[in-house]
Amino acid sequence: MNQVFVDALVSIAGTDGILRDGDVQGRSAGMLRPDTLQANLLVRPKTTAQVAAILKLCNDTRQPVVTQGGLTGLVHGADAAPDELILSLERMNAIEEVDPLQRVAVVQAGVTLQALQDAVEKQDLSFPLDLGARGSATLGGNAATNAGGNRVIRYGMMRDMVLGVEAVLADGSVVSSLNRMIKNNAGYDLKQLFIGSEGTLGVITRLVLRLRERPRSQNVAFVAIDGFDRLTAFLKHMDGALGGSLSAFEAMWREFYQLVTTAPAKSSPPLPQGHAYYVLVESLGADQALDGARLEAALEAALQQGLIADAAIARSERERAAIWALRDDVMQTARHGMPFVFDVSLPIAAMEAYVAEVRAALATRWPQHHCWVFGHLGDGNLHLAIRPAEARGDTHAEVEAMVYTPLANIGGSISAEHGVGLEKKPYLHLSRNATEVALMRALKRSFDPNNILNPGKII
Ligand SMILES: Cc1cc2nc3c(=O)[nH]c(=O)nc-3n(C[C@H](O)[C@H](O)[C@H](O)COP(=O)(O)OP(=O)(O)OC[C@H]3O[C@@H](n4cnc5c(N)ncnc54)[C@H](O)[C@@H]3O)c2cc1C
Repeated sequence: MNQVFVDALVSIAGTDGILRDGDVQGRSAGMLRPDTLQANLLVRPKTTAQVAAILKLCNDTRQPVVTQGGLTGLVHGADAAPDELILSLERMNAIEEVDPLQRVAVVQAGVTLQALQDAVEKQDLSFPLDLGARGSATLGGNAATNAGGNRVIRYGMMRDMVLGVEAVLADGSVVSSLNRMIKNNAGYDLKQLFIGSEGTLGVITRLVLRLRERPRSQNVAFVAIDGFDRLTAFLKHMDGALGGSLSAFEAMWREFYQLVTTAPAKSSPPLPQGHAYYVLVESLGADQALDGARLEAALEAALQQGLIADAAIARSERERAAIWALRDDVMQTARHGMPFVFDVSLPIAAMEAYVAEVRAALATRWPQHHCWVFGHLGDGNLHLAIRPAEARGDTHAEVEAMVYTPLANIGGSISAEHGVGLEKKPYLHLSRNATEVALMRALKRSFDPNNILNPGKII
């Protein structure tokens, strides 16, 4: 990048809006990553007008731009090469408005998920998206990746929580689509084009988000189950019995539960180890005692019907947090070295055979390996953390083939919620047909004819 370009950038964002060389390369490349940023230049605008001026400059000079939020993405979607400009939303972090009557919040894209959660809770409201990286992940990044998380079964994904978007296109024009209505069928729903587009179609600068009333009760139980057919029957049973208040159904296969409840893991097992499956069940409602009684009755019925083998109900805030803590303790999968982590979705009925197929392929290739399975089963979303005997670049590709290839025949997806980025790009064809990919390319060309926005990501 030449000095003329840098000077132009300084005139837009100010001297303190630019970081160069060592100041950029000293920064971490992201959560759960050992490496640091590679780029030479980072710009951190404060306003939409500055973003627009920066993108116009980049478009005119054909300068590639990589947008970064909180760098918690897990598919290398925000990776920037040395010659790419990083556009960080870190200084666009204002919560502009919380409207308790309309139940919307208007935010700049660099606000962290947790900052919004905390702010709206003070007004007895809730923003129900939730995920482990909440303290760093930004709402712009959540939208750009269409994040899912723990409560999709009840509230849907980020796509269902965004009412309006303001985005800057590659040529610097601003699309202000800051709708506040739940219902608005006046033509194409343009915001949806930016949600899940991983920074390839535009830079999201502001969002209108749908809020809910704060749940007045939270009840959590932990359950052991001895067969996959019973696990799926239990999901249907609980969803029906809880009358719409089921908010999480997080399944763990035996090996994962053993891992997160055995030292050095800090959690002690709420139920004995050795059952085939375990499930964290949560209901969010309005009355702690009444909702707790309903959960307990539903579990008793499940026990009588032989759906579940054992259950523990959290009786206090501390016990609820302890059960969630063992589900969230995914870092235990790094105990034997960093595993390869997958985020797939598939029909629930196909899960048992799919996991068996992946395990069989792994066992044939590496008799000594680890494969931990857990995830948002109620959404058809499984995470697999796999550590083969040797974990190298070429073995990663081998494991990817084992995990992704069977999904094509069962109508699954290589990416349930993390996106495609660079990591899953070679496998996109397993989940999207040629016509779909061609339409994605046409959209990309139409939005970004000079290919300056996050080039090479997704497609
Ligand atoms: C511990 C942990 C747990 C996680 N759990 C979940 C989970 O349960 N569910 C889930 O869905 N994800 C999960 N993730 C993934 C991650 O949190 C999400 O992908 C998150 O939404 C990314 O937000 P970010 O601000 O960190 O974006 P970044 O990582 O900075 O960027 C991600 C992508 O979005 C683009 N982007 C960022 N901001 C913008 C913007 N303003 N405009 C346009 N493009 C933009 C980037 O170019 C990149 O392609 C988890 C990650 C970690 C580390």
